[in-house]
Amino acid sequence: MHILSYTHNELKDLFEKNGLKRYRALQVLDWIYNKKVFDYSLMTNISKEDIELLKTSFSLELPQIEKKLVSADGTVKYLFRYSDNATVESVLMDYDYGTSICVSSQSGCKMGCVFCASSEVPFSRNLLGYEITAQILKAGLDSNKTISRAVVMGIGEPFDNYDNLVNFLNVINMKEGFNMGGRRITVSTCGIVPKIYEFADLCLQVNLSVSLHEVTDEKRSAIMPINKKYDIASLIKACEYYFEKTNRRVSFEYALIPNQNDSFDHARRLSSLLKNVMCYVNVIPVNPIDNMKTHQNSKNLSGFCAILKENGIPVTIRRELGRDIEAACGQLRRQHDI
Ligand code: SF4
Repeated sequence: MHILSYTHNELKDLFEKNGLKRYRALQVLDWIYNKKVFDYSLMTNISKEDIELLKTSFSLELPQIEKKLVSADGTVKYLFRYSDNATVESVLMDYDYGTSICVSSQSGCKMGCVFCASSEVPFSRNLLGYEITAQILKAGLDSNKTISRAVVMGIGEPFDNYDNLVNFLNVINMKEGFNMGGRRITVSTCGIVPKIYEFADLCLQVNLSVSLHEVTDEKRSAIMPINKKYDIASLIKACEYYFEKTNRRVSFEYALIPNQNDSFDHARRLSSLLKNVMCYVNVIPVNPIDNMKTHQNSKNLSGFCAILKENGIPVTIRRELGRDIEAACGQLRRQHDI
């Protein structure tokens, strides 16, 4: 059992079953999440006998930092390695409102989006919930920063690892731990429609972000194979349901790729697709991936956004962070593991 897999209530029950007093759960969580201590022997208010019990029953292991890159803009990218050699990436980003972390949910990804470096290295395995949580703790320890927001937008498709995702969300939401409210958490999906409905029914108040990137099924299927299974119409319907259940606007991610999806006609079609959806569009000037000829930002960026706004669609432009350190999802793992 890994200690980071459990919420306070779950831990109280488990401690009792393992011969520990229930109140120890709160003490241990305080050492881990507030005092950042990852060695039971250093938890001075716990008896020696209980320290031995904890050591034999509950792992506290965190992943190793295999590589760390620091951008000129302060963005930090980690390549973490778990004990079975599976690797993932996490990115720490500073904003006016605090420090945010982008975490990975799988080592590799099966979804095969053609623009994504994560699909170029073979899928290794799902991460367990505690392994996703551990990315936040390890990055916080290393950087000495308080991480107040989390985005599940790194390597992997979170809804392809649904149960572990939900375990992770419950743990980081716990008030005795990170106490990260749903509104400070974003989950990003390529569009696994049935899971959007299931997730909506949990009513977690988590922000949902959907990678859209194209406006017709033909073109989207060519770059995102998931679209062959769940087309744009069914995806948008699921997003409407998400809003109905959670009252949270869905964010549609749209990576603007010169001469591919950045024409003003694309902007008009996108507006028409989303005209009845409570959402906003997050336009992403693409991070360059060296073999994909996407080195330049689209010249149509401002005109594209203007058309969406004219049509009543709220638009944000993602701030470019970490361009100099291969901060797009999967680029570091690809460079390291191929
Ligand atoms: S964009 Fe997301 S879903 Fe698509 S291959 Fe990359 S990690 Fe997987």
